[in-house]
Amino acid sequence: MQRVTDNVCTDTTLRGCNPSYVTTRDGVVVIDTPQLPTRAVAMRQEAESLGPIRYLINTEHHVDHIFGNYYFRGAGTVVNHQGLHDNFMVPTPDLDPYEYAREAIPTDDPGGEAIFPPRDEYYRDPNKGTIVFTGDLTLRVGDHTFHLLHTPGHTPGQLAVHVPEERVVFTGDTVFNECQTWLMTSNVEQWIEALDRIKALDADHLVPGHGPVTTLSYLDRQRAVLLEWKAAVADAVARGWTREETIARVNFAERYPVDVGQGYMMDHIQTLNAASLYDKLTSVPAGR
Ligand SMILES: [Zn+2]
Repeated sequence: MQRVTDNVCTDTTLRGCNPSYVTTRDGVVVIDTPQLPTRAVAMRQEAESLGPIRYLINTEHHVDHIFGNYYFRGAGTVVNHQGLHDNFMVPTPDLDPYEYAREAIPTDDPGGEAIFPPRDEYYRDPNKGTIVFTGDLTLRVGDHTFHLLHTPGHTPGQLAVHVPEERVVFTGDTVFNECQTWLMTSNVEQWIEALDRIKALDADHLVPGHGPVTTLSYLDRQRAVLLEWKAAVADAVARGWTREETIARVNFAERYPVDVGQGYMMDHIQTLNAASLYDKLTSVPAGR
């Protein structure tokens, strides 16, 4: 794990999100779990060697942030926003999250095969939140404060976790640092508001959902990426391109690589980013 501050560690090198933990005088708080089974087990052992796990907070419902919760059963209280809890490992027409977790095993974690649960066993207890809230929530552990800020946009139940004593904010996928941004299931207008809210925090270190640890200055770049995608698809709509033409022609694949281990998803990301924006920009606004 990479040490961000005296009490904050993260890992930006794994396939999946950047799982992290914060050590306090009264135990450990985990923020997102490794998607790969052996990595989840290893991170739990490392965290528990430093103190009991008090809380496990998830920043969003996407599989790469929550699947590893399964390997943290019995370790601390899981805290989820209501919008995250409602979507926890729920299959959608675009993605079966359980399958997505399973297909990574042979290539990325062959040692995890033996501890990968069958579907029915997994869904019996995936270790969802038992503290479930709307709006914001503040937790105190030892001498540390955890401000759980509802920052929807990338997903409806998105959280940023600000730990003022460490001058660190964990943003989940509100920030993709120097790697491809996934726009599906997102609301770009809300997302930009979320970036503004995070920008107002007093923090030195930003732990993104994907990519290396950065600073609040990267928020401006993330906003530019969102605005460029939206403007490009808006322009396609204005030109009268069909959905298929838009998907074929609007493409930001050259801009950044995909995060660790997911290079094969590049076309999927480009297609669904363009398609989801096209559908939103061509739908009739509610109330008309
Ligand atoms: Zn993610």
